[in-house]
Amino acid sequence: MIRVLSVASECVPLVKTGGLADVVGALPAALAPEGIEMRVLVPGYRAVLAAAGDAAVVWRGADLFGGPARLLFGQIAGLSLYVLDAPHLFDRDGGPYLDATGRDWSDNATRFAALSWIGALIGAEGAADWRPDVVQCHDWQAGLTPVYLKARGVDLPSVMTVHNIAFHGLMPAEMMGPLALPAWGFTPEGFEYWGQVSALKAGLVHAWKVTTVSPTYARELSTPDYGEGLEGVIAARGGDVIGILNGIDPALWDPATDPHIAPYKQPRGKAKARNALLAEMDLPQGAGPLCVVVSRLSGQKGLDLLLEALPGLLARGGRLALLGSGDPALEQAWQAAAAQHPGVAVTIGYDEALSHRMIAGGDAIVVPSRFEPCGLTQLFGLRYGTVPVVARTGGLADTVIDANPAALVAGVATGVQFAPVTARALATALDRLCDLYADPAGFAKIQRNGMRAAVGWGPSAAAYGALFRGLVTA
Ligand code: ADP
Repeated sequence: MIRVLSVASECVPLVKTGGLADVVGALPAALAPEGIEMRVLVPGYRAVLAAAGDAAVVWRGADLFGGPARLLFGQIAGLSLYVLDAPHLFDRDGGPYLDATGRDWSDNATRFAALSWIGALIGAEGAADWRPDVVQCHDWQAGLTPVYLKARGVDLPSVMTVHNIAFHGLMPAEMMGPLALPAWGFTPEGFEYWGQVSALKAGLVHAWKVTTVSPTYARELSTPDYGEGLEGVIAARGGDVIGILNGIDPALWDPATDPHIAPYKQPRGKAKARNALLAEMDLPQGAGPLCVVVSRLSGQKGLDLLLEALPGLLARGGRLALLGSGDPALEQAWQAAAAQHPGVAVTIGYDEALSHRMIAGGDAIVVPSRFEPCGLTQLFGLRYGTVPVVARTGGLADTVIDANPAALVAGVATGVQFAPVTARALATALDRLCDLYADPAGFAKIQRNGMRAAVGWGPSAAAYGALFRGLVTA
């Protein structure tokens, strides 16, 4: 049995803003059959503490970067969970990263340095009669953990897992003292980044291995187009950078048992889910496909391109239902599109149950991301017979088989890919979708292929298992 501590800023079912939480929450169960015993460390946000109930206190500190802190441990929400209870950092209204007005918390550097510091403490000293053999650090919020381990003189294997390289966790150099960062690390070869400290770079440089969430994104990261200024750091790690695809939790996302919908099997049940969604969204029937989008509204996701490509889809009798929130300008633009077109329905907000109804009821799910480390919604789509239309980038490229003539003849197509990521190429892809949709038997075949596609954790769990075993026996 190999013990792995997973350090993360969000975790399903307790706190989620994106795919990171899905993955952190799913990994412990997915890796158990590999002989991995994984415990998760998360911040004690209010919702997490409420779920923690009377979990045992396993460590206390009088001053963790400006206030007292406790570490709790227990079986919480189905996970073996360490919770960092530090009221001065986490007991507040608002989201994990943003205040109620949508601005980053001004002390985010301190908040997640504290999380990383506790990750290193558990790695170095153990807690609750358990010491990990490996520490897995998720994104910049956990990126300082390998540095704190080194600063303690502890040579513990660590893995930096990149879910999105766009967020660097930058902080001014003056934070080095207050956050107990070692002076030896502040070099261009270390965690210094143009005069600041980068928590993500710290992890990329100092972790024993680096993983990211798809093989294509792993390759993209060493290029200037995708590396966000860290391409040189990634390239320097060479073969230490490994791409392992995310899976989805097959229990949470199963059209035959999903409690959020009237569970269905293809093809009759799917038609019912579709009609229910049309009625709920007040959308008309039409000759073309019902497309859905469930997404953060940010530049990354390419939904401005979809706005441009929309008229072509509508002209062919397609409809579009979008659920999302984020950038106010995009929210407004989408609301304006819904007001203008009867075939467009927009729900601004974050709604887990509605996301299931939409993915169940759509004919197609559109994911036109400019970059996409892995992407989960196209995997949900595959599982529910909702044909993905995706940009050919990152994990989208790795999980969808384009319905090109060869794939159609071979009977293996599961969706539509497009490149480059432009409105024009997306419009062409939507046109291709409409062509495919116009042949019901052919379209049903693509849906069935997708529903059979391997979207669970099987091969990826084996890859993580091999990685962790290799680190422990190294
Ligand atoms: P990212 O992590 O970049 O946001 P992913 O595709 O990896 O993108 O994961 C997004 C996750 O968040 C998925 O589980 C998706 O269903 C969910 N999600 C995104 N926006 C919403 C929303 N508005 N309502 C409900 N779920 C959402």
